[in-house]
Amino acid sequence: MPGSADPTSSSSTLSPAEIEAGRKLFAAPWQFLAAAGSLAAVPATTGMEIAFAGRSNVGKSSLINALTGRRMLARTSHTPGRTQELIFFANPANLVLVDLPGYGYASAPKAKIKSWTALAHGYLGSRAALARVYLLLDARHGLKPIDAPLLDALDRAAVSYQLVLTKADQVKPADYEAVIARVREGCARRPAAFPDIALTSTRTGHGIPELRAAIVRLMAQRSAVRPPT
Ligand code: GDP
Repeated sequence: MPGSADPTSSSSTLSPAEIEAGRKLFAAPWQFLAAAGSLAAVPATTGMEIAFAGRSNVGKSSLINALTGRRMLARTSHTPGRTQELIFFANPANLVLVDLPGYGYASAPKAKIKSWTALAHGYLGSRAALARVYLLLDARHGLKPIDAPLLDALDRAAVSYQLVLTKADQVKPADYEAVIARVREGCARRPAAFPDIALTSTRTGHGIPELRAAIVRLMAQRSAVRPPT
């Protein structure tokens, strides 16, 4: 809920123990679990899922690779064939990262855009294991009209999502606050948007330990309310 106090908020201080737990969680070996080109091919749930979405070139593969410490885990936008699939990665702690296809290819045929939208929105709207979506935005550009359909789908599905500004190294630290304020303003009326906005850079590592720790906190909360079956 916008403005409500959420304990996973990055503004509520993450303790050194949480940062360390985040490091450990993500240092565990990650494995490719599945690639789903249709909703029918989405694998059975194996743990808490965190999905990453954003327009192509926003830095999504780089962020997943930085979080997991694996340089080549997530595909880059340049990997042909994989761009229309949901990719699932799992680690031994039953955390599953889901890489959604990047949207916003100017040259993509309409039919492809339609099938991507149906797949991504269908997954986002129907997955009980999905704990949070990280919606990535380039810190230099913030929210764009191209992001609206996904934001609308997340709001409709009432899936909790957090905006993550990528490529923070391309913005002067003195401008961070203004950039974040502008994005916050842009999603102020969106009911499922998490009130805090994260800022990351895979070049400098800015925000990466905090994002890992926030996911640890989310896992702890989920297991507190939903004991594992
Ligand atoms: P994707 O299409 O969203 O998966 O984006 P990629 O991870 O492939 O990155 C797109 C481009 O942005 C690449 O040229 C990356 O090197 C660059 N990039 C990714 N993360 C960062 C970052 O934190 N800072 C800067 N300056 N460039 C980045």
